[in-house]
Amino acid sequence: MHIQFWGVRGSIAVSDPRTVRTGGNTPCVELRCGDETLILDGGTGLRALGAARGAPLRAAIVFSHVHWDHIQGVPFFGPLYHPSSDITLIGAERDSGDLRDALSAQMRPPRFPIGLDALTARPRFANLDAHRPHEHGPFRITSIDLDHPDGVRALRIEAGGRAVIYATDVEHGEGIDDRLVRLAEGADLLIHDTQYFDDEYFGRTGPSRRGWGHATVEQATEVARRAGVDRLALFHHDPGRTDAQVEGMEDLARQRWARTFAAREGEPLDL
Ligand SMILES: [Zn+2]
Ligand SMILES: [Zn+2]
Repeated sequence: MHIQFWGVRGSIAVSDPRTVRTGGNTPCVELRCGDETLILDGGTGLRALGAARGAPLRAAIVFSHVHWDHIQGVPFFGPLYHPSSDITLIGAERDSGDLRDALSAQMRPPRFPIGLDALTARPRFANLDAHRPHEHGPFRITSIDLDHPDGVRALRIEAGGRAVIYATDVEHGEGIDDRLVRLAEGADLLIHDTQYFDDEYFGRTGPSRRGWGHATVEQATEVARRAGVDRLALFHHDPGRTDAQVEGMEDLARQRWARTFAAREGEPLDL
């Protein structure tokens, strides 16, 4: 499985000379296996992915949830404007609505000039069922609900004999969420929310971030250890985190789980 990070930043895109080595786009990760492409989340990184791959394109995009940093790239994803593209959009149904509702609310005046009906690729929508795996080409996607304001799905994606866990926007709280440990068991790569350090989350430096929906680097390394994953990728970097601070976080994480790296935009990885 081939992996490329197109957006690794959390909450809001940033553009700052002190963040260029990490990247400023919001979540978007591309997985390729053979001729098939699976994209995780449609943050602002999705625009660059579309520009690089061109159109028409055959791909599926699976959404962890619909907070704006995970959907803002969709209206700017070039392949959606090519009638021969074959694109499936996969997301969970919530009490607040389904994926189509969230994307059409984003593309509607007065917030946006054109609507979903302008997407000439006519994307298909699919429900991400938490009770049975979703198949897309060689990809088998299992999802579980974890704690995050308005809900989030963590994903286990298996293809070509490899397993990747996508656990962005997850809040463990005081302990470690055992549901995620079980999902991640034995995976080749764990992509884990590390928006904060413990000191920030628990309010020892600045305001407490409890209830904001995110995890800490210390918690991510503990999940990696308990689940026995091969590699850990630090992800959903805080918008205020500079490159030097991301490197500092990476150093701390490696003392706890040696096979750790900070996810950086444009970084390709083969599993
Ligand atoms: Zn987010
Ligand atoms: Zn979120």
